[in-house]
Amino acid sequence: MNAGSKNLDCVVVGGGLLGLLTARTLALEGLAVSVLERGSLCSESSWAGGGILSPLVPWDYPGPVSALVRWSQRAYPRMTAELYDTTGIDAEWTRCGLLMEGVALDQRIADWAARNACVVEELDAQSAARLEPALAGLAGMAIHLPEVAQVRNPLLCKALARALRMQQVEVREQSPVRRLLVHNRKVTGVETDAGKLTCDRVVIACGAWSPQLLPETGKVLPVCPVRGQMILFQARPGLLHHIVLRDGYYLIPRRDGLILAGSTLEHAGFCKDVTEQARQELRMAAFRILPALAEYPLVKHWAGLRPGSPQGIPYICEYSEISGLYLNTGHFRNGVVMGPASAQLVTDCLLERESFTDRAPYRL
Ligand SMILES: Cc1cc2nc3c(=O)[nH]c(=O)nc-3n(C[C@H](O)[C@H](O)[C@H](O)COP(=O)(O)OP(=O)(O)OC[C@H]3O[C@@H](n4cnc5c(N)ncnc54)[C@H](O)[C@@H]3O)c2cc1C
Repeated sequence: MNAGSKNLDCVVVGGGLLGLLTARTLALEGLAVSVLERGSLCSESSWAGGGILSPLVPWDYPGPVSALVRWSQRAYPRMTAELYDTTGIDAEWTRCGLLMEGVALDQRIADWAARNACVVEELDAQSAARLEPALAGLAGMAIHLPEVAQVRNPLLCKALARALRMQQVEVREQSPVRRLLVHNRKVTGVETDAGKLTCDRVVIACGAWSPQLLPETGKVLPVCPVRGQMILFQARPGLLHHIVLRDGYYLIPRRDGLILAGSTLEHAGFCKDVTEQARQELRMAAFRILPALAEYPLVKHWAGLRPGSPQGIPYICEYSEISGLYLNTGHFRNGVVMGPASAQLVTDCLLERESFTDRAPYRL
């Protein structure tokens, strides 16, 4: 490839959800975009995630996370419907609700709900049992967030990839970017194994690996891998309807009866191995929530590396030391739900225009 022959407006490095969503938003603005992915599209954190379209305990997160979450939550139904229409791939956006066991409604939660215009219902044990009869007996109160939805993130990735190709966006797999090309503190392109690609704007969306492309002497990007393990049960449709959270563990029911149980939070560097200890921990937690799961086979166990950042606030900004270089990374536990808003923000930043929210909190 002499990639330099094509004059691109922008190269997006990283073909996870953040890279694909960014490329889609840029292309919809009329930019010529290329996505370069070192392996297969969405084979890292974006595949491994659960697809819950809300932080697990949303009132524990700072305002800048809530702002991206709310924007994306509103965007998801339309975006997934458009993707279905254009690609025929259904990302299974489903408003299933989130049930949090052992939590009572207090003033902090009520304030958060009012600030973010979210519906929060407090349920006693009997009402919670009416909603989800198969759950283990509840002691105490529960909180129900009926508006919370989920997507099937691997299907969302597939739909995005197909839509991009239909939009004539170049999406290259097995194309690691080895380094950035910079001249006079301005980005001029990227170097891949197949040659150089010339462009004057680059977005880094490499998840946990994002710091590796930045100059060693430049500003440090505090993004690091945080391993999350999950297990999957082949249950039956209708056994569980809501996402359920108890004691930090959660279950996510898919339409076809699969139930995901997650997840661990581990600092193990770039190691993606699964462990027997985590498998047992997640199994036992799943059975405590939904005893009937013990009757169904555990069919898969995997790990992914979240792009961890302090407080979970992503970096969505121009890298101040190199003009034309942008970041969209560090989404930690909430990259699926913050994805569409983050793509919009980085696009606004690149096009030097106002955004739906103040961009200052997302600067490096
Ligand atoms: C167990 C688990 C559960 C989760 N559950 C949820 C959830 O329910 N809801 C939610 O919102 N979020 C969830 N997340 C978090 C979410 O998955 C991530 O925040 C999000 O997927 C990050 O996307 P990304 O595109 O930034 O990173 P990734 O998906 O990791 O993609 C980065 C890509 O960049 C590529 N890359 C790296 N270096 C280079 C290079 N030099 N050249 C080219 N390509 C490169 C990688 O190969 C990779 O494909 C979960 C994560 C895990 C692990």
